[in-house]
Amino acid sequence: MVLLILFSAVSVVPGLNVQQEPAPAADRLPVQPDMPCSAVVTPEPYTVPLSDAQENRAQAVYKKSIVITAHDHCFHPDDFRDQERAGITVRTIKLTTDGIYWQDAARHKIESEVDGWMERGQMAIEILRKNIAAAGGKAVVVRSVDDIRRAKQQGQQGVIISFEGGRPLQGKLENLKNFYEKGLRDMQLFWAVSSPLKTRDNRFSDFGLQVIQEMNRLGIVADFSHLRAPAFDQAISTTRDPIVVSHCAVKAVSGADASGGTDHLNDDTIRAIAKNGGVICLHFYQGYIRPHRSTRSSVEDLADHADYIRQLVGIDHVALGVDFFPEKGAPWIRGAEQMGGMINVARELVRRGYTDAEIEKVLGGNLMRVYERVWKR
Ligand SMILES: [Zn+2]
Repeated sequence: MVLLILFSAVSVVPGLNVQQEPAPAADRLPVQPDMPCSAVVTPEPYTVPLSDAQENRAQAVYKKSIVITAHDHCFHPDDFRDQERAGITVRTIKLTTDGIYWQDAARHKIESEVDGWMERGQMAIEILRKNIAAAGGKAVVVRSVDDIRRAKQQGQQGVIISFEGGRPLQGKLENLKNFYEKGLRDMQLFWAVSSPLKTRDNRFSDFGLQVIQEMNRLGIVADFSHLRAPAFDQAISTTRDPIVVSHCAVKAVSGADASGGTDHLNDDTIRAIAKNGGVICLHFYQGYIRPHRSTRSSVEDLADHADYIRQLVGIDHVALGVDFFPEKGAPWIRGAEQMGGMINVARELVRRGYTDAEIEKVLGGNLMRVYERVWKR
């Protein structure tokens, strides 16, 4: 403190940089979730109008399916109990997010781009393992498709370790291998802040493209979320493996004013992902799944996006992202504000006449196909 006062006293000379307190390193900021995602939202009553026969079908297909979510931020011990109750086989948990963390039901900024990020990633993995143990030990970190099948058979709750953004690599390619060895099987490349993977104009840096190639080599799923159009073109022509966009919407349905990129996908982007063999995982957040029937969007609006992709490129490219996080006031879609609402997606697809095989693909089958291709070992 005293030193800082001295610095600021000498730095008032015009033309000299004012000394600023450096941003705290990322590992100095909270990593441990202080509440489960279910604590920030109260689900509204929601019913999908189905006949008894349809309801039975929805229950049966949901129960037999491997149910996978491609994106969430929930790893408080209670979250694993919620996962069990909801019948979700596997959740892809983004343990860190470049540029933010959640605490006290609100989001907070992380300014530091590099300092302490590798340590932050390692701490997050350790906390995940500790919280899994605290939840009673029925949850497991999955590293292979066999692990997922075993989790389904044995009623365990699977977890795929992921990061939202590449800051935990701290600009070093060898850190990807270190994290792979600790269980990393999925990583989102970009988030809304600077990182060594990006240039100032939001394209991939040379390092960012090397990261994609190294993910292909090691067997880590590349998550193309939050890319602008030029970065998407760079990335899709670099990857040799199928990719996922873990949380997004369809532009033609949402009506968003986005020009390309992977937040609100246009038809060309959807076709490019289909050609790559990849999977588009739908967001469960009203900012993406916009309301067309009332002031609040719902599972019905979500299913409109699935319908659109299915019609354009086929059912093999639709999956569920979700993106739950512990922040109060965030508007998730009615009928699926929490993990327990996942079955309403199956119900809505039954109502729309999807076959059992199609519903199984949306619930997790399509993501399993990507994992089989990417996780080589
Ligand atoms: Zn995101």
